[in-house]
Amino acid sequence: MTTTAGAGLSGYLRNIWTGFWSCLSGMGITWKYFWKKPVTYEYPETREAASYGEGLPAGPPSFGVAERYRGIHRLEQDLCIFCMGCKRACPVDCIEIEAARKPGKVLDWKSFRIDYGLCLFCGLCVEACPRSCLDMGNEYSLVRFEGSDLTLELLGWKGLREKDLEAIRAAEEKAKKKNEEGGS
Ligand code: SF4
Ligand code: SF4
Repeated sequence: MTTTAGAGLSGYLRNIWTGFWSCLSGMGITWKYFWKKPVTYEYPETREAASYGEGLPAGPPSFGVAERYRGIHRLEQDLCIFCMGCKRACPVDCIEIEAARKPGKVLDWKSFRIDYGLCLFCGLCVEACPRSCLDMGNEYSLVRFEGSDLTLELLGWKGLREKDLEAIRAAEEKAKKKNEEGGS
């Protein structure tokens, strides 16, 4: 009888000590992290402002996305030759490109859109590009209220810039001169 009462008391005291010790350990960890720099990012406020093109969200993200992550495409529009290689390589036909060819190898850009509601992020379009002017960036944010808003425009500009107009004029003058020489 005495033994049971002793075990009961020591068990009771052990429970108190265990409870007290676990509380102390927890508070110790809290205290340690209380002085550390917070690692929680305020999303999306922490994202740095940068533009990948008209209609694209701000980027790049200011925190860990793997270097080879396949995110929203980036187009180096100046290098693109409107060959449609990327469009042909796409297994789900989610790339739409529209441009008009002008004299002097100038392109009058209308649109270069990708429907991210369909895109598989497979990268086949990037591999097919003969100018290496299409790649997949690390922008991952595709949050939209409407599915139709998942079609993004990659063009940085549309239409003809001043330097394009000059190139067209120069090409037309050259062609005119050639015709005149050929006629005389
Ligand atoms: S990543 Fe794949 S699915 Fe997406 S546009 Fe390129 S080829 Fe098409
Ligand atoms: S394959 Fe490359 S060069 Fe050809 S249209 Fe696509 S992005 Fe432009």
